[in-house]
Amino acid sequence: MNGDDARADDAGEAAPCVVPGCGAEGARSIARTEIRKVFPDVEEQGRRGPLCREHYRAWKKATRDARKLDRLTW
Ligand SMILES: [Zn+2]
Repeated sequence: MNGDDARADDAGEAAPCVVPGCGAEGARSIARTEIRKVFPDVEEQGRRGPLCREHYRAWKKATRDARKLDRLTW
């Protein structure tokens, strides 16, 4: 019995961050069109995608700074 590995099937709970190469546990669900403004590598699949705490903070900061910055370099 390996019931401990079934959490990935639970929709909505602890989905991984959508930023490629991250894979951390998602903390916030953001519209992907908004995510892609900051992280262009994110696939445009579905309407919303989870961001982990770190990427959510980076995204929030980037969207807030977007008026000042013409281009974001990551
Ligand atoms: Zn992340």
